[in-house]
Amino acid sequence: MKITSLVTFAFLSALWCSTSSADAVNVYSARSEQLIKPLLDRFTEETGIEIKLLSGKADALLRRLEIEGEVSPADVLITVDAGRLHRAKMMGLLQPVESENLSALVPATLRDKDSYWFGLSTRARVVMYARGRVRESDLSSYEDLANERWDGRICVQSSSSIYNQSLVASMIAEHGQDETLAWAKRLVKNFARTPRGGDRDQIASLASGECDIAIANTYYLAAMLRGKQKSQRKAAKRVGVFWPNQDDRGVHINVSGIGITKSAQNKENAIRLVEFLLQEDSQEWYTSTNFEYPVRVDVPTGKVLRKWGDFKADPINLTELGENNPVAVRLMDEAGWR
Ligand code: FE
Repeated sequence: MKITSLVTFAFLSALWCSTSSADAVNVYSARSEQLIKPLLDRFTEETGIEIKLLSGKADALLRRLEIEGEVSPADVLITVDAGRLHRAKMMGLLQPVESENLSALVPATLRDKDSYWFGLSTRARVVMYARGRVRESDLSSYEDLANERWDGRICVQSSSSIYNQSLVASMIAEHGQDETLAWAKRLVKNFARTPRGGDRDQIASLASGECDIAIANTYYLAAMLRGKQKSQRKAAKRVGVFWPNQDDRGVHINVSGIGITKSAQNKENAIRLVEFLLQEDSQEWYTSTNFEYPVRVDVPTGKVLRKWGDFKADPINLTELGENNPVAVRLMDEAGWR
């Protein structure tokens, strides 16, 4: 009797262990929950694999992964910006995943050169302008924003924004450090105010007349246009989207992305999750609900984004943005970009 129950217990605990590792994925995510949770729920529905989600601020999650080290329960890290994904790679928090399937789905420029992370959705950082106060024909490129014509007219986030760091990193890749520094110094002179707030705040300030130009990601404007608040919708309608650098390298783009952690206990399921997020219907969800662009070239852009038309994107490999990040940060500091 005693032996039987011992055996039963051993059997049950073995069963529990295998269940917990075979049917779960632990996700550390720096995205707002409403921008990822519905997809994770759908994954569980489709596969029966449970998701344990820990949401947090990106840099705090990186620090947590670093402290937890090999015993971290995390299987995947989801965060935004190639600059930050690269940082996670360099901190030794991720492991490479060689997968023909993933490499076929994500264009080479939108994933890590060594397969440590993969883009899941694309975002474009554009020049937005105040309709009526700025003529579209006066706009051309990021480089031109340094022109004195824009003196005191530009709103943009601070240099602590990874989005701006990556934009500057792309300028360094194109023009080198000296020219980019000179550009950044003149750009700073054109700021309408000391940088504060996020992209949404820059767009709001543009609409209210505090500035005429803003540098921001398009999904914020789309979210305002489709938002519940009438005041936000009204403000967003005063804002035009301009695709810079269409005559040369193209508009600066970036990604939200995912990497398998070095400590992953559920690697196979984690890869299934990555594949799921790259599935056609998931990619459609990203573009129709989050107003980001699909990374997959065979998935059409959502309706809200389509009205801004097609654009040429800078074909730089986003790994380079991460590689240039430390220089970009130093250079922005030197340029007086607060
Ligand atoms: Fe954002």
